[in-house]
Amino acid sequence: MSADTAGPTVAGATAAESAAESTTKHAKVVIVGGGFSGIGLAHSLLKNKFTDFVILERSTDVGGVWQLNTYPGCTCDVPSNLYSLSFAPNPDWSSTYSPQPEIRAYLQNTIDRFGLRSRLHTGVDVTEARWDEGAQLWQLQTSEGSYTAQVLVSAVGPLTEPKLPDVPGIELFEGKLMHSARWDNDYDLTGKRVASIGTGASAIQYVPRIADQVGELLVFQRSAPWIMPHDKRPTTPEEREKFRSRPMTQKIDRAKVYVSKEVLLLGFAKRPKLMRFVEGLSSKHLASQVSDPVLRQALTPDFTIGCKRIVPSNEWYPALQKPNVTLVPKALREIRAHSVVDADGTEHEVDTIIFGTGFHVTDIPFADRVYGRDGVLMNEVWQGSPRAYLGASVPGFPNFFMFLGPNTGLGHSSMIYMIESQVTHITNAIRALDTTGSTSIEVDSAVHDAYNRDIDRKMATTVWEVGGCTTFYQDATGRNATIYPDWTFRFRREAKKWRKDAYHLATVPVAAGVGAGVGSTDRGRVDARGSAAGADAAAAGAGAGRRLSAVERSAR
Ligand SMILES: Cc1cc2nc3c(=O)[nH]c(=O)nc-3n(C[C@H](O)[C@H](O)[C@H](O)COP(=O)(O)OP(=O)(O)OC[C@H]3O[C@@H](n4cnc5c(N)ncnc54)[C@H](O)[C@@H]3O)c2cc1C
Repeated sequence: MSADTAGPTVAGATAAESAAESTTKHAKVVIVGGGFSGIGLAHSLLKNKFTDFVILERSTDVGGVWQLNTYPGCTCDVPSNLYSLSFAPNPDWSSTYSPQPEIRAYLQNTIDRFGLRSRLHTGVDVTEARWDEGAQLWQLQTSEGSYTAQVLVSAVGPLTEPKLPDVPGIELFEGKLMHSARWDNDYDLTGKRVASIGTGASAIQYVPRIADQVGELLVFQRSAPWIMPHDKRPTTPEEREKFRSRPMTQKIDRAKVYVSKEVLLLGFAKRPKLMRFVEGLSSKHLASQVSDPVLRQALTPDFTIGCKRIVPSNEWYPALQKPNVTLVPKALREIRAHSVVDADGTEHEVDTIIFGTGFHVTDIPFADRVYGRDGVLMNEVWQGSPRAYLGASVPGFPNFFMFLGPNTGLGHSSMIYMIESQVTHITNAIRALDTTGSTSIEVDSAVHDAYNRDIDRKMATTVWEVGGCTTFYQDATGRNATIYPDWTFRFRREAKKWRKDAYHLATVPVAAGVGAGVGSTDRGRVDARGSAAGADAAAAGAGAGRRLSAVERSAR
């Protein structure tokens, strides 16, 4: 990464302190994460003439989950015309639901197309962020040195840190072990005896793709998911030409998809009994694809549809009926050097284990790195049950905003809709800070608390609450801290409206020499001209190691 390192030093500092100080880089806004959220905010800041910002991304390029998830069959499950940024329509999707390489290329192209590449610093892992009340700045530690920022924005994603099940013996396994989100594409699965653990959205995509390649495949299922027929199809050259020459037609298609998804909320959140109709469609899909009554029974979910994520697939049930594939409808009890043991104690010899076991979601790993006012750690404030105002701001954490924080997840539509709503909110907050010349902005705790009471009240009657399932949506206390339980257009309306009573703006005199109000210092300002190719290459190696260790950490 290239960066300006020269700059004034702090008066009275020792030589060593001065040296350290001179390598501290500063940007008014530091965005951590280069996925849809980070890119969306960067675009908005530039459009609003805020130029003093950087994106710090620990991976080798932008893309977020679409850079990291390279497993076979990885595809979005919301139509691409909605699952894309509104300011960057793409008429060239090859399919109505695009595959991962296309989404990754789309994000890489977007950052170039809107002149944002120079703001991106890859291979930079933000390891700690501390609010410095005296300086009215965030002090950041990263794998590439320290930074200061007036505003810190976490765009680290809710599905970034792979989660492994808490199974005894995992560290004893002598074969190949990988998580779906850290797929080793150099590893040849041909002829292998493979155990696939989990039946969530990722496993449902990769199992059909590897079934014909492996020697034998055991699919461990703790709980059968509801599967819907998939309506994906390749786009036609005529459609692509139409979207290219008449962009409005693509906007109309996007709006239609949005409405078709949004009406589903009626069943999910307003009248859960309506989910019976959806359940009927899914049961019919199962009956039409699985004729063996014993297998069909094992694949029949025991909770109301929608309580866990509904996954579309026409390939899942056929894959499970291939001669070399066996469904093991049991949890995993133990892992040994060359085998896995199911809940009944049956041992299955395998040489590869693939974990399709999801992510650390409600235990938000980045919140273990962020210290707010009085040095309080965000996860300590939350005590296992994260809450935020509009999923974006937390009392006690001035000048800090996050994307896709607590209660912003959807079970029925595109997360990009939520991201773009938060982009407007966070841009408005930064504008308020800027135009008033304040040094800090902080959410009002009464507004924050009232907002969360409202979330809990709305959640109480939804399918996520009454549907009879246990999911990753629930936090350590059993509260659903993941889902937004209302119309998404309501979320957008509330995020867009700038409520003056929701935030406190303050101007705290900053002691001379201790830090700097934004714009009043040029010390070590981050070089916004981009990261060097060599640094990116170095980051590729370092990033891979860090990603692996993340898997290892979560295994413990
Ligand atoms: C396989 C998969 C498929 C999905 N499909 C859909 C779908 O079809 N529809 C849908 O609506 N949603 C889907 N999602 C959800 C997805 O999380 C969001 O749609 C969206 O991509 C989130 O974007 P983001 O930018 O907020 O986060 P991410 O895409 O997760 O990006 C976060 C970035 O932050 C970086 N980062 C994290 N920690 C640090 C750190 N400490 N320092 C520096 N950088 C850091 C990461 O490397 C990553 O690049 C899917 C998720 C997965 C995993």
